[in-house]
Amino acid sequence: HDTLTNAQMRDIEALVHPYTHAASLRQTGAHMIASGEGIYVTDEAGRRYVEGLAGLWCCGLGFGDAELVEAAQAQFSRLPYYHLFGGRTHEPAIELAEKLKELLPMEAARIFYGCSGSEANDSQIKLIWYMNNVLGRPEKKKILSRKRGYHGVTLATASLTGLPLNHEDFDLPLEFVRHLRCPHHWKEAEPGETEAEFSARLAAELEETILAEGPETVAAFIAEPVMGAGGVIVPPEGYFPAMQAVLRKYDVQMVADEVICGFGRTANWFGSETFSIAPNSMSMAKQLTGGYFPLSAVAMDRRMAEAVEEGASRNPALGHGFTYGGHPAGCAVALAALAIYERRDIVGHVRRVAPVFQARLRAAADHPLVGEARGAGLMGGLELSPEPGRPAAFAQPGKVGARLMEEMLARGVILRSLGDTLAFCPPMVITEAEIEEMMAPLPEALDATHAWARA
Ligand code: PLP
Repeated sequence: HDTLTNAQMRDIEALVHPYTHAASLRQTGAHMIASGEGIYVTDEAGRRYVEGLAGLWCCGLGFGDAELVEAAQAQFSRLPYYHLFGGRTHEPAIELAEKLKELLPMEAARIFYGCSGSEANDSQIKLIWYMNNVLGRPEKKKILSRKRGYHGVTLATASLTGLPLNHEDFDLPLEFVRHLRCPHHWKEAEPGETEAEFSARLAAELEETILAEGPETVAAFIAEPVMGAGGVIVPPEGYFPAMQAVLRKYDVQMVADEVICGFGRTANWFGSETFSIAPNSMSMAKQLTGGYFPLSAVAMDRRMAEAVEEGASRNPALGHGFTYGGHPAGCAVALAALAIYERRDIVGHVRRVAPVFQARLRAAADHPLVGEARGAGLMGGLELSPEPGRPAAFAQPGKVGARLMEEMLARGVILRSLGDTLAFCPPMVITEAEIEEMMAPLPEALDATHAWARA
């Protein structure tokens, strides 16, 4: 404890930190971030870092965008709070919903607001159940998700999440969730199986699951276009079209969780476009406001919107909604973010610089500590393996990945290790030169980690 600063001591005494090993934190203290500008953040000791994960996959416009701040300030001055309950509304909420309906790659009929990705996905479940009650099929309630998918941490959305850490010690998943195989070709494919064959097998497994459960009991399938927190896993060729053919056959709703992929990350406005997903409903958060304000949105197709409206007409009211959902300042920030994405052609920018990033990432695949380098757009994952180029588990899972993250941090780049995968998701405004700066320390950091792992 002697080496901890006063603020670090106060932090330990005052806070419970999400996703943090508490005993280790007592040794090291938390890393205090003081300010941000562009793709960089500066800590309390005055050291500057490239923020290679855009915070938590959310600060697509970097850390010092004055327009977003001004949009919030202006709205705070005009109307700092209002809600959408019981017949009230406000202009920023309407304008943002209209704008989203125009932008989304689906026929979005209505928008429902929450504050977080978890709230959006929790609302998906509830509103799909509500829809199915209205449609006279109340037994159609089961939700399919995937192993390694990440959809949030509320009781229901942590159940959708397909990671043991989110289930163990919480008595989860809840009984209405079924987890399908993770679509990671490198790890899950049979020897010699092509990506297309693997996709066909996963679709066949989906059909078997639906038939085993009874199609009349299966309501929806939720998926991230690219799995983020589960390890940056890009779907194999033909995956979503094959899966959706089965879903349509049994009238199982396709829910796209665009919380990370939305708003340019995969070099299209939405991951659904990049991976040929035709969602019935969509969840958005994170880059919706560039991470500057907690706001999320659910977009629903006509059938879902009409059923929700009908239900809310039969009943005294729709019994669902969040105090801060559609907060006027959040909507104002989101509108400013969307205006910037359009005016500065952020999608075009990601298309231009993503190949530079992906090439630098894939160049690391030759390193003897690397199993697989993968990614899409400005998302990337570098999975380490004790067997070069092949999937295998380290004796102590997660330790080597964490060490590589530390080695990168020591060289000025903040990243996040997910098990033994190092994740990259820099602000989308990153330039080619800044990509070089972010990736330059990687070979040396890999060598240092390799030496440490062998010692
Ligand atoms: N869905 C996806 C794809 C996510 O990546 C996340 C968070 O990382 C969530 C949902 C949950 O969002 P939140 O942490 O805002 O509740």
